Amino acid sequence: MRYLIVSDLHSNWEALQAVLESARGHYDRIACCGDLAGYGPDPNPVIDWARKHLDLVVRGNHDRACSGLENLEWFNPVARVATIWTMARLTQDNFNYLRQLTPGPLKVDGFQLVHGSPLDEDEYVITGTDARNVFEYLDMNVSFFGHTHLQCGYAYANGTFQIMAGNDGHGEVWHRLDPEGIYLINTGSVGQPRDGDPRAAYALFDSETLELVQRRVRYDYETTQRKIGAAGLPDILASRLAIGR
Ligand code: ZN
Repeated sequence: MRYLIVSDLHSNWEALQAVLESARGHYDRIACCGDLAGYGPDPNPVIDWARKHLDLVVRGNHDRACSGLENLEWFNPVARVATIWTMARLTQDNFNYLRQLTPGPLKVDGFQLVHGSPLDEDEYVITGTDARNVFEYLDMNVSFFGHTHLQCGYAYANGTFQIMAGNDGHGEVWHRLDPEGIYLINTGSVGQPRDGDPRAAYALFDSETLELVQRRVRYDYETTQRKIGAAGLPDILASRLAIGR
C-alpha cells in the first residue's frame, strides 16, 4: 500500500493544497501524525478535508487544545491566542472530530504513527541524541512522527545508529528502508515548517517495497499570510511562514 504521510497541517489550506497536488497519483491512503488545527487561518476547511480524506490519524497537542482537552497555561502566548481564536470558529462537527482523535501510537500495516514520540505524545524529538533515546522503545520497524516541524529521519541499521540524509535543498530525498532496520522518520510540517525551508513538507511511503520519499513543495504562503492578517492572528504566525522558522 502506498501512503501519503503528513503532519502539522496547522490550518494552512494553501500548503495542504500544494502537497495534495504534488503527491497526486503517488498514494492510495493518507495518514497524519497530528496537529490539524492551531496557528493558521483555515481550521474548518482543513478539518472538513481531514474528516473526508484521512484514512489514519493521531491527535496532536494543538488538536487537543483546540477541542478543550488541554490547559492553555502550558502554551506560549502566541499559540494560546491562536487556540482561542480557533476554538471560537470551529464548527461543532469539527470540534467533535478533534476531540475524539486517538492519541498515538497508532499501529497499522507494518508501521506506526505518533505525534511526539512513542512514549509521550508531547515529547519533542529534536536532536540525534533525543532520537537515540527513543530507539529502545520502538516496537515497530518504521515509526512516523511530527510535532517538531523538522523534516528528518533516524535509522538503526546494520548495527549502527544513523542520521538519514536530508533533501539538501533539492526538495526530494529518496530512501529504500532495510527490512531489518528500525526507523524513526519525521515527515516535516505541511503548514508551518521550522527547519529553515519554507516549503511544505510531506512523505510518501510504500509499505511493501519500503521506499520512502521525503519531499518539499512550494506553496503560496503570501495568501496564507494575508488571511492571517485579516483574521487578526499574531503577525509572527504570518512572518515565520516566509522563512520556515
Ligand atoms: Zn505542530
